[in-house]
Amino acid sequence: MTVGIGFDVHCLVEDRPLILGGISLPFEKGLLGHSDADVLTHAIMDALLGAAGLGDIGAHFPDTDPAYRDADSIALLEAVGQLLKEKHYELVHIDATICAERPKLAPHLPAMRERLATALACPVAQVHLKATTTEGLGFVGREEGLAALAVCELRDVGCRPSLL
Ligand code: MG
Repeated sequence: MTVGIGFDVHCLVEDRPLILGGISLPFEKGLLGHSDADVLTHAIMDALLGAAGLGDIGAHFPDTDPAYRDADSIALLEAVGQLLKEKHYELVHIDATICAERPKLAPHLPAMRERLATALACPVAQVHLKATTTEGLGFVGREEGLAALAVCELRDVGCRPSLL
């Protein structure tokens, strides 16, 4: 078993869609970034890559590469899932927390879980999401940006002895 941690922050700005966990949310601001700035999906990808010892998303999908301009982070997550499979890692569990003062995220968490689990081709029960405010404190509290934290556990199935 290996574990990984991911953390990400993006600015909230006007005239951008707010995409979290691959779901477009109704809100007056969105996240700024080279890609679609899906802060939750980015934190999850970093946790997965970390657990597999494969670096971080900056190394795999550099924000200096025009190919990733406005990239759909869910497509990048699918690529990470594929890479893990090639390296003989199997997902055990993801747990993530989104830090946002607004909008209220709880009603949208089931759809995000579904979307993320579909991208990783895993049961939805293996993707757990939570949301919290920061009680008005810091950049999240001032609604200047959103943050996300993720941890994951992977199972290395490559060196499992065959029982057959
Ligand atoms: Mg990011």
